[in-house]
Amino acid sequence: MKIAILSRNAKLYSTRRLVEAAQARGHEVDVLDVLRCYMNITSMKPEVHYKGENLSGYDAVIPRIGASVTFYGTAVLRQFEMMDVYPLNESVAISRSRDKLRALQLLSRRGIGLPVTGFAHRPDDVDDLIKMVGGAPLVIKLLEGTQGIGVVLAETAGAAESVIEAFMGMKANILVQEFIKEAGGADIRCFVVGEKVVAAMKRQGKEGEFRSNLHRGGTANLIRITPAERATAVRAAKTMGLNVCGVDLLRSNHGPVVMEVNSSPGLEGIEAATGKDIASLIIDFIEKNSVSGTTKTKGR
Ligand code: ADP
Ligand code: GLU
Repeated sequence: MKIAILSRNAKLYSTRRLVEAAQARGHEVDVLDVLRCYMNITSMKPEVHYKGENLSGYDAVIPRIGASVTFYGTAVLRQFEMMDVYPLNESVAISRSRDKLRALQLLSRRGIGLPVTGFAHRPDDVDDLIKMVGGAPLVIKLLEGTQGIGVVLAETAGAAESVIEAFMGMKANILVQEFIKEAGGADIRCFVVGEKVVAAMKRQGKEGEFRSNLHRGGTANLIRITPAERATAVRAAKTMGLNVCGVDLLRSNHGPVVMEVNSSPGLEGIEAATGKDIASLIIDFIEKNSVSGTTKTKGR
């Protein structure tokens, strides 16, 4: 097969591993910097050009689209979909999971476990917003935050009110969430390929930190997940329509709750923590499933 990887940087661990795994199985792989792709959207003749070349002959495309390039990245991926190239994850599914509000709304409709969550932009009654999600302690998040930045724990209703007012002053969209104290500063990353959790790790925040993000100094270890956790991760992936994703769960008193579904999950942490060759599992999935023109949504 001829495979394109859409990635900003061929040197990134995940990109390198996917290239290695594809080549080891005899495939031809090109890493394309998504921001350098340009497109011709003439009627009936969709094209992607790259460094003066009109790209053709790809059987599959692996999107590794960072949050900061979601808009342009999903447009390039959609163009490959128009050309009937098989996408590992579809552009619509990536957009769906990138928007935290949209993702939680879709997950809630399917009855998937979630922390009690409120969304607001400029509520007139901040007290009622706080009461609506069960009162303090509360977690307040900026909708656009990543890597744990913009996630605040407010221990009291007074603190929650000040933080909400500060975020409102920034004209930001805010998410107000039940604090899952019993998670103990840890979350579980379930790596889903196809309809299976192929690896799972527990990430523990550093001492005194409720955020488990590795970027915030957390550490990762192999963990055995329960059947309920496995089922929740698989259902969350299916709801988003993602073939490959990282589903982040917290262990709450009311069962596993989904924090986030990541459409470009990194391979470094999970391969190191579990010793599994996830890159090869992904290439294996593409070999079994890539059929030209089978994109379900075609960008819809
Ligand atoms: P980001 O997308 O920036 O990583 P998250 O919403 O995933 O933000 O939050 C970062 C981390 O903070 C989570 O991985 C989790 O460890 C912790 N966290 C977030 N929300 C809650 C919550 N409601 N209760 C307990 N811990 C939380
Ligand atoms: N296509 C819409 C979306 O991507 C609806 C999906 C759905 O309702 O499941 O959000």
